Amino acid sequence: MLKIHDLNCGTFCPLGELAINGHGSPFKRGKLVCHCQLIETNDGLILIDTGLGTRDIARPKDVLPGPIWQFINQAQLDPEETAIYQIKKMGFKPEDVRHIVVTHLDFDHAGGLADFPHAQVHVYAREHIAATRRPLWRDRMRYAPAQFEHQPKWKLYRTEGEKWFGFDSVRALQIPGTQEEILIVPLMGHTPGHCGIAVSTEQGWILHCGDAAFYHGELDSPKRRCPPGLRIYQNVFQHDRALRLENQKCLRELVLNHGDEVSVFCAHDPEMMNRFAGKGISVHGELLQQLDLAI
Ligand SMILES: [Zn+2]
Repeated sequence: MLKIHDLNCGTFCPLGELAINGHGSPFKRGKLVCHCQLIETNDGLILIDTGLGTRDIARPKDVLPGPIWQFINQAQLDPEETAIYQIKKMGFKPEDVRHIVVTHLDFDHAGGLADFPHAQVHVYAREHIAATRRPLWRDRMRYAPAQFEHQPKWKLYRTEGEKWFGFDSVRALQIPGTQEEILIVPLMGHTPGHCGIAVSTEQGWILHCGDAAFYHGELDSPKRRCPPGLRIYQNVFQHDRALRLENQKCLRELVLNHGDEVSVFCAHDPEMMNRFAGKGISVHGELLQQLDLAI
């Protein structure tokens, strides 16, 4: 029973399939997903990123950056894609989600927080400050205060810790009672406190790098490849360009040099979602067997 589920918790269909997905027609709409992960543990569920939530779908005007943005990007607002709907469909209760870890707090990653108000939310302190104070115009577009109205139970982290595959200041999350090794990896640039979340599995590490990249060619190609529409989007919404490009380069080197030990994916690429979805990776096989025997 201990495993990782890959969930798409929000679909966007932006103008220009070719410019967004790198293939297809320039005249059709493309597709982007919100790739989240649900980890079953002995002590409840852990959700990594939350996509869009039920509140966003009921009142999109509170969250989306305006009608022009919605015309260009066409958020699908499908209630069956919310994490809470999918988790209930698996037979769990919303209260089973004890912890949520977010790569950052952009509205397309934090929308599901309000559906799990009892969960502790793990995030970098500097991301929390940016999202709740919103000092810049860009911050006022990307962060939606309505998503935090329920006063989440924040667990804030400083960027400090050990080295991990060449990344500095990496530390384990403080989740009592959980045997799983889950790390918070600083990947600043897209937002001030953006991070990756690494989970140790029997098949090696899985690193959810959020919006540190938008396209598989930015991660698994020795020389960066990215369709022009996604390049523009990343440039417009970047908080720190130099840091973003440096961290993306480090991720490429990680995949190139340690791809057999670490599987890396980003949040919005449907091709990467397909590579992971349905794998049902076990976190601790021996415990899985024990549970099977117990059943
Ligand atoms: Zn995003």
